[in-house]
Amino acid sequence: MSTADKSATEVVKPAPTVFPERTQFDLSSYPCPRCEKTMAADSYAPCQDCIAELKASQQGEATGEAAAAYEPKMNVTPNAVALKDD
Ligand SMILES: [Zn+2]
Repeated sequence: MSTADKSATEVVKPAPTVFPERTQFDLSSYPCPRCEKTMAADSYAPCQDCIAELKASQQGEATGEAAAAYEPKMNVTPNAVALKDD
């Protein structure tokens, strides 16, 4: 009997992985993810100041003001059939 056979019969199951107890996230006092100011909220979110700032800075994107100001470059030659005058 070789040593390989012996080790195959003596397979020991590894101990089950034990995960640490999940810690409850404390919403009554946590640092704002943006400005790190200690704050409380009903759900995880940036503080009111940051929300106001983000709304103000991203309003243009949402309403399409930036998209309207963008004029695409004409890189494509217009269709030859459309240009043909007859
Ligand atoms: Zn903040």
